[in-house]
Amino acid sequence: MDDRPGSALRTLEIRRNLREEITETLRAAVISGELRPGVVHSAPQLAAQFGVSATPVREAMLDLAKEGLIEALRYKGFRVTEPTGKDLDDLSELRSLIEVPTVRRIADAGVDPAAIERLRPLAAETEAAAARQDLIAHVTADMEFHLRLLALADNPHLVETVRSLRAQSRIYGLRSLAERGELVASAREHTQLLDLVAAADAPGAERLMRRHIGHLRGIWARAEPESSPTRSNAGQLGTSAPRKRRR
Ligand SMILES: [Zn+2]
Repeated sequence: MDDRPGSALRTLEIRRNLREEITETLRAAVISGELRPGVVHSAPQLAAQFGVSATPVREAMLDLAKEGLIEALRYKGFRVTEPTGKDLDDLSELRSLIEVPTVRRIADAGVDPAAIERLRPLAAETEAAAARQDLIAHVTADMEFHLRLLALADNPHLVETVRSLRAQSRIYGLRSLAERGELVASAREHTQLLDLVAAADAPGAERLMRRHIGHLRGIWARAEPESSPTRSNAGQLGTSAPRKRRR
């Protein structure tokens, strides 16, 4: 038993990190469609897959319910909310309105080369995750890449707005795209985007960012959740989630 002073605080810290990590993983699972909409998921079932107790999973679920990603069902668990095609279209439109001109502005203003270099490992991670068909890792790295790129415009409100828009979006066709090997090409655009920003090619960065968002819109339009393979259920989540755990 660890009774040194501060150990309770450390325990709290570990628990908070675990909760954040589980929230992040579940969020990516919802966005990628790996956690299927319409199905009832329970905290104990997911906790077993994460190899943790149900408490941090329940807490993570409450966080996601606040974000509107899931709907809590009393005594049963939760259900992933299902945006309509129009919802997804509207979200894409908003993202384009914000992200495309912002990326242009960043390229135009010129960026410290060191800041670009710090983003390259994330660009590489989205590509590596796409290559090994780890959709949850891909979505997580993709979200972080775009938010950190946008952060270069020095407007935290803008970054938070985009985070929320992205969290509400769904990219249902991701698995079939990964299986066809096409996700890597889309992920490679992150590195190309960094090259354009580094070269201060504002029109080029704007064009690529527009195309990049357009891809996602095309992906979900081709594949609604009903038509996604049965393996994209909660069971799949368990294969990648526990390994992500850090202590
Ligand atoms: Zn991206």
